[in-house]
Amino acid sequence: MLTLTWMNLKKTSMIFIIDTSAILSGKPINLDGLIMITTSSVYNELKPGGRDYKTLQFLMEKGLSINSPSQDSVDKIKIISNKTGDLNRLSEADIDILALALDINKADKKKAVILTDDYSIQNVAYTINIKFESISQKGIAKKFIWSWRCLGCGKNFKENLKTCPICGSETKSIVLNRGNIRKRGRDDR
Ligand SMILES: [Zn+2]
Repeated sequence: MLTLTWMNLKKTSMIFIIDTSAILSGKPINLDGLIMITTSSVYNELKPGGRDYKTLQFLMEKGLSINSPSQDSVDKIKIISNKTGDLNRLSEADIDILALALDINKADKKKAVILTDDYSIQNVAYTINIKFESISQKGIAKKFIWSWRCLGCGKNFKENLKTCPICGSETKSIVLNRGNIRKRGRDDR
């Protein structure tokens, strides 16, 4: 069960979840006065001493807290991202970020917003109605649905099959179709 100090704090409803790509972007994250949260797996991905670690420390001074998602939500995210074809593109830290958002959205009057430039995180977030914003790139304009195409006979498969069950050739991941998605993130350029 999720027990977070911010749940006992005031009535702020937006919780900003900072992922690794947001920190690595090097872009200033100016969320003074807003609730920021990340996961211990993101924290552990950054090596002490580097620029990105300093960014993280700076954010922690500004109130960024570190939490872990529930196992239940981690399992849910794995099932969903497997369906969307994003699972093998997500690191453990990426999965934790999405799972933490699920936990937050379960809490009363709390709304998670993931700050991320990672398209797979964005795709899974979109699929399950989690709000996200990109830091340095435009958000994805279309929803990706990954598929795997046989390099031999050209047949498409929904699952990630390493070899084609029909002709035994290697497969390659492709974006098979793109549904409509609301454009989020910045609209510059
Ligand atoms: Zn084949």
